[in-house]
Parts: sequence; C-alpha cells; structure tokens
Amino acid sequence: MGDWFQTIADVEASSDEAEPLAAAALAWLVETGIVLAEATDCVLSGRGHAPGPRYATAVTEADPGLLALRTNGVEAITGRSVFYSMGAEDVTCPHCRQVTVLNDDRGHPNDAWQALSDTIDAWFDGGRGEHPCPRCGHLVGLNEWTWSPPWGFGHLGIKFWNWPRSDHTSCPRYPSDSATEPRTRAARCDLRRPTRPKVRQLQVPKDALTAYQPQSSSQNPQEFDRTVGH
Ligand SMILES: [Zn+2]
Repeated sequence: MGDWFQTIADVEASSDEAEPLAAAALAWLVETGIVLAEATDCVLSGRGHAPGPRYATAVTEADPGLLALRTNGVEAITGRSVFYSMGAEDVTCPHCRQVTVLNDDRGHPNDAWQALSDTIDAWFDGGRGEHPCPRCGHLVGLNEWTWSPPWGFGHLGIKFWNWPRSDHTSCPRYPSDSATEPRTRAARCDLRRPTRPKVRQLQVPKDALTAYQPQSSSQNPQEFDRTVGH
C-alpha cells in the first residue's frame, strides 16, 4: 500500500504567526485526544504525532487499520509552502467565475498552467502571487482562485499521513480565533498515483521541497520516488 497525506493549511497565517499557531494547533489536537503528545518517527521524515484515542472525531469515517500503520502521524509544516493536491484541473476566478482549464485534451499541462506555475514560482520566491484572470483581467491572489482540487499557499499546514478523509468541520481552530470562521483549506495528495507532468512542472527550488515533500519513504521507496524524483 502506498502512502498519502492530506494537509489542512492556514492560508492567512503570517510567517511570524506560523510557529505559535502550529504549537497551538498541536496542543489542541493533543488536548482533544486526536493525536498523542509524544512525537515519534510516525511520519515519512522527521517526527510527528500518532493518532490519539479520539482520532475518529476528526475524520469522516474511522479506519481501524490506521493505528497499525507505521506511517500514521500528524505534523505541522511551517515556512512558505505550496500545499498541493495531486494535480490541478482548473481554477475559477472569484470576480467573473471564468473557469480556466489547466490541461489539454490529453491531460497534459497547457499554457495556462505554465503561466500559473510561473506565478507560483514567483510567490515562492517572496512575490505577491497574483495572477491575471484571462477573461476579466483582475489580478487574483493564488489563494483567491477556487482550485479544483484544492491547493493552498501559506506558512502553516497541518499534515495528516494516511488518515481517512478529514472532517473539515472539526479541523483545528486556534484558541485565539475561536470566534471566527475557520480560515483553512484542505489539500490532499495520494502518493499511490503516479506523478503527473503538471506536478513536475511546479518548479519549486529543490532545497525547498522538504517543506512539503518528504524526501524518502521507508515503506515504499519506489512508489515515492515517482513523486519526488523530479
Ligand atoms: Zn475573472
């Protein structure tokens, strides 16, 4: 069986807020019994928190097999990161609702994806990450587009390894923000599926990949290599 992850990203946290919010989110997850307090090697690289006694409250459907997996941890990702789903089908403009398709008839990335990918690169290098809508011309921030499937761009994500689909209504709400709407979005990536060209064309600097792509898998090195080999 291959590994997969889903990330709940806080797309509004600043670089300064990311670390304390990550600590608050993890503390909340421990306190509610969703994860264990002790950090162990239960994620593909680094250390994470294994499912706790009440992990099922955070997912839409409990998976008894999760507890037996070696890779089943939760980790906080901080630092400028692209929280991607496997592939990107299209983006919708929030102003004119124009849907921009990102692939050609054969499923390969098209010019629209390449242009958007360039904007992502610029954002990763510290830019504003605004991309013009081809129809109405508005400059639209990367997080303002409606992505299908969801992508997020920010400084904080909580990554769940091999967990069942998360119940987004119970995603972490930070203590300081309990009165506000959750400002999160979920990105999911299935490492069992071969990498598609459009993902490889996301030209994020190699040394930054550890922010959102672990470099090795003790369980399925061959499968994983397909994802991170480029
Ligand atoms: Zn538009």
